[in-house]
This record gives sequence, C-alpha cells and structure tokens, in this order.
Amino acid sequence: MINFIKFILLFFIYFNQSFSDELVNLRYGANDDKKRIVLDLKKDLIFDSRIFSKKIEITFKKKIKIIGNFKFQNNLKEILFDDSNNTLNLIFDRLIYKPNIYLLKKKNNKFSRIVIDYSLKKIKKKTVVIDPGHGGKDSGAVGIHKNLEKNITLKIGILLKNKFLKKTNYEVFLTRADDRYLKLRDRTKIAKKNNADIFISLHADYNKNPRTRGLSFYTLSEKASDKEAEALARRENKSDLIDGVDLSNESSEVTNILLDLTKRETLNQSSSLVNFLINSFEGKINLLHRTHRYAGFVVLKSLDIPSVLIEMGYLSNKKDSKLLLTKDYQNKIADKISDAVIEYFVWKEKNIN
Ligand SMILES: [Zn+2]
Repeated sequence: MINFIKFILLFFIYFNQSFSDELVNLRYGANDDKKRIVLDLKKDLIFDSRIFSKKIEITFKKKIKIIGNFKFQNNLKEILFDDSNNTLNLIFDRLIYKPNIYLLKKKNNKFSRIVIDYSLKKIKKKTVVIDPGHGGKDSGAVGIHKNLEKNITLKIGILLKNKFLKKTNYEVFLTRADDRYLKLRDRTKIAKKNNADIFISLHADYNKNPRTRGLSFYTLSEKASDKEAEALARRENKSDLIDGVDLSNESSEVTNILLDLTKRETLNQSSSLVNFLINSFEGKINLLHRTHRYAGFVVLKSLDIPSVLIEMGYLSNKKDSKLLLTKDYQNKIADKISDAVIEYFVWKEKNIN
C-alpha cells in the first residue's frame, strides 16, 4: 500500500514536471513600422531563439504545452509547434528586419512574457569609404625607421574595413586595396560612385620637430585653422603633383561648395563625426593638442559626404613611428575609428527621426 502511494506521488511529480510550462496567449502590438508579438507563459523559462528571414524559431529547454487558439496579426501567418523538440516556429508572410527577442520575468505579473520586436522596413546599409592615403609612386611621408606612410595607411585601412565587415548593416569600400597610385580626385570619385555615407582618409604626418607626436583629425575648410594645418594640406595635396596635375588651387569649386548651404550641413556632419572620434580616442591613444583642425585638403573637397582626414601620428617621432608599425596599435586605431563611426550613425539616426 505504501509502495502504491509512493508510485502515485512519483507519477504526479513526473507529470507536473513534464509540462513545466504552458503557452497560454499571444498578443500583438504595433507602432509605426515597429511590430511586437508577446507570448504569455505561465512560468519563467529558458529558451533559445534562431532568426530567419521569414521565420523565428524558439526552442524551449523544457517541455511546454500550447493552450488556446491563437489569432494571427502583424504579418504572422502561421505557428507550428514541434513537440518532439519543443520548438515553436513563427512564420511570417513577408521579410522581417531587426528582430529582438527577450524574456520579461513574471515577478508580480500574471504571466512570464517572451517579447518579439521586429520591423517590416528594410534597413538601408551604411556605406563607408576608407581611403588609405598615397600609394604606388607616391610613398607619402618617410619615417625615421624608413617606414613609408603609404604602407601604414594601407595596413590600417584594410584592418578598418574588416572591423566594419564583422558588423551587419555596413558596406565598406577601399579606394585602394594594394600599393597603387591614385589621384586625389579619383579617391573622391570612388566615394561618390558608391554613394558613401562617410569618407575616411587615412594618413601619417611628418614634422621637423622630432618631439611632435599624436593623432589628429582634419575636416575641410577654405581657411586653415593654423599655419601647421595649412602646410600639412599643402604636403598632402602634393600627391597630385607627382602625376603632373595640380588641383590644389581649384578654389572656385571649393568656394561654391562652401557657399552652398547643403554643403555647410555636410561640414557640420563632418565635425560631429570628429567629436565622436575624439571621444573614442581620448585617454586611449596619444592625441595632438587641438585635435580637430581644418584645412583645404583636395581629398575632402567636392564631397557632399561627411568626410574626415585622420593623421594617425608622426613618422618623424620615434614613439609614434614605432607604434604605427605594430599590429596592436594598428588594430587599436581601427577599433577606435569603427566604434566612433558606429556611434555617429546611431546618433544621426536618432536625430533624423
Ligand atoms: Zn599623407
């Protein structure tokens, strides 16, 4: 008799555990292009989710039971439950974007809730054009360790490209992916052709004073912020002279650009981008005093795309020159740039909507 009671008790416990949770309800919400589906469950539970273009798969760690008839809204077409592996398939009648799936624990609520947020609007990929300065017959600055600017800019350019490719929603183009000579205007043409959202030109500087070191950011301006910036722009613009064309004094177009208000907005955007860059680098990498400077760089001219030229350090300085050759430092610079660009786009999106 005692054995029999034990058996019933065991059976009861087993039965209770076998259906450790119940899905009782499906609710819907919508706000503009954002959609929400809420799954009400009797208990908090652990699950895995997988996302497909038209399907969300939720696999529960424990057995669940589906209770109730569900209606379909928000482009949800069908729900399939496979009780052999406790997988719930939510099938949509169109592509879904930016899905976010999370659990809201029961606490004082009647139900524990799995929330599925998604959008029906296609996300436009951001296009970043990275311009490794110099190349080919134009080696750029020559460092104290005989290291060439053109090689450093290419290495960091490729690293930076790879940082973005690891993220979704980014499309990245390099103006050059090998050691070749490109005119400055050809670089901006690549940005225009690919409808770039931003343009980043990478460089490393040289100074008569071997103690000068640090990284700096330049945006376009008809008037240089100081003599140093002006001299630098002259040096960088010389790249075209190598091929016998001097475009550095094509000021009529530049003046027009600067008078154009939409271009003015581009310059404001470039400055915002620089602010994000400074925040990202500050305290982590040695920065030049007055980190944001302005000058008439040809490579930034004629672009109605937010653009920045980064001088990543001084090849005339022992420390900078050595650092710029290390993989660690090159990676660090690429990391900080990509972090800043991503934050800039998040900020920009918030400010437009
Ligand atoms: Zn340069």
